[in-house]
Amino acid sequence: MYDKNETAYREKVELNQLNYSKINPHEDYLMTEDYVKVHSKYLRQKLMIVGEGSVFIVLLLFGLMWVRSVFLKEMKLAEQQKNFLLSITHELKSPISTVKLSLQTLFKRKLEPEKSEKLIVNSLVDLDRLETLVDNILFAAKIERDEAGFSSEDLNASEFVLQAIERFAHNARGIDIKSEVIPNVYLKADPMGFTSVINNLIENAVKSSETGTDVNVTLRDNESHVELTISDTGIGIPEAEKGRIFEKFYRVGNENTRRTSGMGLGLYIVKRFVEIYNGNIEIDNNQPKGSRFIITFPKE
Ligand code: ADP
Repeated sequence: MYDKNETAYREKVELNQLNYSKINPHEDYLMTEDYVKVHSKYLRQKLMIVGEGSVFIVLLLFGLMWVRSVFLKEMKLAEQQKNFLLSITHELKSPISTVKLSLQTLFKRKLEPEKSEKLIVNSLVDLDRLETLVDNILFAAKIERDEAGFSSEDLNASEFVLQAIERFAHNARGIDIKSEVIPNVYLKADPMGFTSVINNLIENAVKSSETGTDVNVTLRDNESHVELTISDTGIGIPEAEKGRIFEKFYRVGNENTRRTSGMGLGLYIVKRFVEIYNGNIEIDNNQPKGSRFIITFPKE
């Protein structure tokens, strides 16, 4: 005698046998309870393995992406440090050496007045460059340490711009700095920071220009904004570099091909300072060649 469950099961198997044995008598085992159990267990495990595998692959991909981004960050940092060490060695040591040599020559030898004067003028130019570099290092450190420490004084921007132009007017390479500065344009900013912005932009324009060409500086009052533009007809900035030149210690090219001096801090300072005062900075290609930097500061 079969109990109730077994009878039901046998009926089911017989019914299945009737239906399927017509199609393929060798597949009868597919209908057995053991097979159904094993098969459903197999399907469950397959699903579990596929699920776990997918989670593992997703986690692995995230892990790889994270390792890649950390690696790229480290590479960038190492590149910045390398650039900094190379430029600090070259940029700080070379003016010190030339000034020292000039002073030793003046001390040891009786030179003709013109020769002495030339040595003194060259030394002063080198010391000026050294001063700008040291100012930039200190200023970059201040921006990173104490962003909130910058004041918002009422500045006569026109006077600051004219002073900076005067400073670079007697450059050794005969570059003429032409200006169109509206008088008494005021804005609120830190005087030292604003001076550093103008000096760095004019110095870059002069450095990148060929002997005897012009650099143009304009200062305009556009109702709520003050607009400063500095344009040159120099080597220009390749499209691919425009996004990178504001990075700390970044300089276009490499140590062997570069013709200009610097440490890659100038534009980093300019960008950070402009951002602190909610201003904006853009680079355009000047016509027929060269670059144009356009900086806007809100008046308030
Ligand atoms: P530095 O002048 O000390 O190298 P900056 O941060 O001021 O550093 O400028 C970064 C780089 O951007 C420079 O090395 C130079 O290659 C490029 N650059 C900046 N201004 C100009 C410009 N007016 N014309 C062409 N290239 C420029």
